[in-house]
Amino acid sequence: TNWITRDRAHIWHPYTQMKTADAPIAIVAGKGAELYDETGKVYIDAVASWWTNIHGHAHPYMAEKLAEQARKLEHVIFAGFTHPSAIELAERLLPLLPAGQSKVFFSDNGSTAVEVGIKMAIQYFYNQGIARKKIIAFDLAYHGDTFGTMSVGGDLSFYHAFQDFLYQVERIPTPIPGQEAACLQALEAHLQKGDVAAFVFEPLVLGAGGMLMYPPDVLDQLMALCKKHGALCIADEVMTGFGRTGKLFATLHCQEKPDIIALSKGLTGGMLPMALTTCTEAVYQAFYSDDKMKALFHGHSFTGNPLGCAVALASLDLLLAEETQRNIQRIVQRQADFMAKIKGHPLLEDCRQTGTILALEFKTDKQSGYFNNLRDRLYRFFLQRGLILRPLGNVVYVLPPYCITDPQLDQVYGAIEAALMGI
Ligand code: PMP
Repeated sequence: TNWITRDRAHIWHPYTQMKTADAPIAIVAGKGAELYDETGKVYIDAVASWWTNIHGHAHPYMAEKLAEQARKLEHVIFAGFTHPSAIELAERLLPLLPAGQSKVFFSDNGSTAVEVGIKMAIQYFYNQGIARKKIIAFDLAYHGDTFGTMSVGGDLSFYHAFQDFLYQVERIPTPIPGQEAACLQALEAHLQKGDVAAFVFEPLVLGAGGMLMYPPDVLDQLMALCKKHGALCIADEVMTGFGRTGKLFATLHCQEKPDIIALSKGLTGGMLPMALTTCTEAVYQAFYSDDKMKALFHGHSFTGNPLGCAVALASLDLLLAEETQRNIQRIVQRQADFMAKIKGHPLLEDCRQTGTILALEFKTDKQSGYFNNLRDRLYRFFLQRGLILRPLGNVVYVLPPYCITDPQLDQVYGAIEAALMGI
């Protein structure tokens, strides 16, 4: 079938189009935590395919619900029309979120879900004639690749070509250990000026920034400051949502409640691209008016797609099932046990865990004098052993589907220990 040659002839892949990159691997099937290439080689998907596949691959229940919906209604314009799967999804999802979330706005991917949240926050104040336009974000944040979300992202080198086109955002230090006070102080200094519309953040874990973690009490303090000064809190739960942190949503670890929440990835368990942004009734009310210009003018062709909604409902069924909840707690425990075992290894700069996410920061070349081209070498080392672990720089992280078995986890941990013996 020659998939690789045919792929190279016509396809432009994200992040890996450089000349030096390895050829893509053609995956032809998947089941549970496993993916299979064209030669039949098995890979354990230890990063849940960019953090989306919370129930693993090709789950028969989800596939069945998708087929059922496809036979009944595959799509309908969502402006002026609605359908049962969207309604049912909103009804079932909202009560699972931190208290106060009242409305659902559908879109297609994590970036747009965050972007919609930011547009909501800015127009919320605009519609009321209040002069608040400033957006605050962490300096190591990642919220997506559209212009709007690049703007609120950290100073990532791969965005430099677009620097002049990004809107201005106030960045505060990410509250990694030792920086909590500086972060809180910086946020309050901005808020005191009275012109901040919103603070947008990844709760508890900053994903693409390197799986950087901070505890719920810091987030509580950050959100409390925003409330005190009248700014909105936008929680980007695109990665942390749907059980990742050990609770259904990361912000459920907090006392304070966000005003706006962005969700995608685990929403459809990776089966279809869909996203949504939820908000409080107070936010919604600023748009609900006889004045047409107060509406949120944002929508995509596939907004509220019935297939996406049906799959999201199926994914929710599976997530809430006792077995999955047990699996999540099993993974949390196994990650903790493994971390305890390797903590303090001389080649590790740091180990950290939040719920089902384990991150191991390898010492870099300069620090250890040991690894060269660390990221690529680790990636290939794991791949050869049938493991998909895509390090973020020198950070190897394990973020598995909840159906991963203990023997599969043992294989992942074994390979990481082997990498620590020398690659
Ligand atoms: N926010 C967070 C926290 C993410 O991790 C990501 C994707 N890695 C996004 C937003 C963007 O989502 P998408 O890739 O679906 O646009």
